[in-house]
Formats: sequence, C-alpha cells, structure tokens
Amino acid sequence: MDSKSQRKRQRQIAAQIERERRRQKAEETCPLNREEYTRFIDAVTTEWIESPSQQHPFQHTHSYLETHDLSPEPFLNFLSTQRIQSDFDVIIHGDEHFIFGSTPARLRRMPIDEPQLHELMDYIDIRIRKDGCDNTLRWTEEWLSENSLPVSLTVGSLIALGGGCDCEVILNVEPNMIYPNS
Ligand SMILES: [Zn+2]
Repeated sequence: MDSKSQRKRQRQIAAQIERERRRQKAEETCPLNREEYTRFIDAVTTEWIESPSQQHPFQHTHSYLETHDLSPEPFLNFLSTQRIQSDFDVIIHGDEHFIFGSTPARLRRMPIDEPQLHELMDYIDIRIRKDGCDNTLRWTEEWLSENSLPVSLTVGSLIALGGGCDCEVILNVEPNMIYPNS
C-alpha cells in the first residue's frame, strides 16, 4: 500500500470511529429507548405521509408526544441535536439505526425484506419504461398496496434513501445500504 492510500484508509477509519462516537452519544442522550423511539418514528412517518403537516413543522411530533404523555422539551432538544427541525426531518434524518445502531437484519429502516425490494424495483422499472415517472411514487405505492405491504412506512424509508419519486427509487436506493451482506 502506498502512503497516499494508507492515509486515505486512516481517514476512513477515523471517520468511522467519529460516526460511532456520535451514535453512542445520541443513544445516551435520547430520552426514549429504541422501542419507544421506533414507535414514535413509525407513527410520525405514517401521519406525515398520509397528511403532510402544514400548520406547524412539528405538528405530528407534538400530537404524538401529547398522546403518549411524553414531555416535549427534552425530546425536541434531542431531535435538534440530530438536525431534526420538522416532522419531515424525522423521516429524513430520524432513522433509529443512526441512533441505536444497526441490527442483524437491517442497516437502515426498511419494512420490506430484500427479495421484496428487488421485486418492487423490477416492477417500477417496467412501469417507468412503459408509462414514465410523474414525479410521484405512484408505481411504488401501487405495487406495495397490491402486495398488502405497509405503504406509508415503506414510502417513508424510500424517501429517506433518496427515493422521492419512482425513478429516484431506481436511481438512488441501494439494497446494500439497507441489508447486511446484501
Ligand atoms: Zn421520477
């Protein structure tokens, strides 16, 4: 290994250590445990996808905290340390895997399993070639609902991975970022 690639490797290791240090700090300071936090993000994702908040950026977050008797201030302070300033940011930056780490099954949030994601992407690909992308997730939603899979939660996970419309799902969603050993 020459010294240039050695330095690059050292920088990658340093970045990995820094990411893990930040993750541990987030885990220590999060007022909710993994299970509670996952229930929160599931609820806000579902609510936001089904009716995007318009009156207040944290509308669904506030109503969740209120319904579950959780004190808003410590949790909202925690969210701001995670660059989360709105319900939509919860979907984009709020992945519980960023805070509590990956699991044997997932590196990122994704309700459907790997063969299902491949099937979904094949389906979108065929539909886009025939009818194009209209800047929505209509083929994605159609396939998920026809296969009785969770539409809102899957759509939220795809958006967080850069899949904001059907063609972006094909372009940006990488199964190896979601499933270990993919
Ligand atoms: Zn598109």
